[in-house]
Amino acid sequence: MEVVAVNPRGYCHGVVTAVTMARQAAKSADGPIYMLGHLVHNEHMTAELEELGIKLIDSEDRIAGLDQIEEGTVLFTAHGVSPQVRELVAQKELKAIDTTCRDVQVTHDLINDLVADGYDVLYVGRQGHPEATGCVGEAPDRVHLVETAEDVRGIQIENPKLALTTQTTLGIWDTAEVIRAARQRWPDIRVHNDICGATQDRQEAVVEAAREVDLVIVVGSKRSSNSNRLVEVVKQRVGKPAYLVGTAAEMRDEWFAGARKVAVTAGASTPSPLGREVIRLLERFRPGSEKLKDLLN
Ligand code: SF4
Repeated sequence: MEVVAVNPRGYCHGVVTAVTMARQAAKSADGPIYMLGHLVHNEHMTAELEELGIKLIDSEDRIAGLDQIEEGTVLFTAHGVSPQVRELVAQKELKAIDTTCRDVQVTHDLINDLVADGYDVLYVGRQGHPEATGCVGEAPDRVHLVETAEDVRGIQIENPKLALTTQTTLGIWDTAEVIRAARQRWPDIRVHNDICGATQDRQEAVVEAAREVDLVIVVGSKRSSNSNRLVEVVKQRVGKPAYLVGTAAEMRDEWFAGARKVAVTAGASTPSPLGREVIRLLERFRPGSEKLKDLLN
């Protein structure tokens, strides 16, 4: 099978930094060490960090998660945390190691500046995602979470000083539609699109590659926002089939019936060996005359 390995794909700078900091922390921590939620949204990486002795507090609600920690060191994930989490950690006299991605921190700083300047902020993000929770937590009365253009049209905000910012890992075309709706409703709204460069580059690259192939495989976790968006943008922008797999073993023979060319990409939190394994397997695969499971090691 002809395989297009999409570039860029896989790890972004924020994930590399978070994982490096966590590995160092595991070596030097004095006492128990915890990650408050999955450090990055990938189960294989979580398992690797657990093997190094970092315990997972598996709660997307960071405040609730802190109930499970009484002493030691706590790692804040690349998605960032709200000021309420930082305060609670300080009250409990825990040591904090903050791996918040610098691109996420930009949004926190922006929200604080806007609110201090008298603005209300529309935050385009996903309800329940830790990054959105952390950003809204900067000023819960003044930051309003919206997911869709429909939400924008329905929300009630009295403040004439209004700004908009976004989660870093959204779909770039969906978000453009939400921003268009906001500009239609409030022509003077101040817009800061904070989708990060890594997310944008991966989405643009996979859409371009998808035009030349029969289907696309995205390697990443079901928890990973940016991996899910890669599947979505292929389906929505190009209309080609796209499948999210955690590992090569999750691919199914029927996806490849009649296919001659496939593109492979990976989310920003996907360890490189997982993507490489998929690429190597598909390069050897002859759909119709053999089964994928027979090629797995
Ligand atoms: Fe940072 Fe973007 Fe990577 Fe998230 S996807 S960790 S915001 S670079």
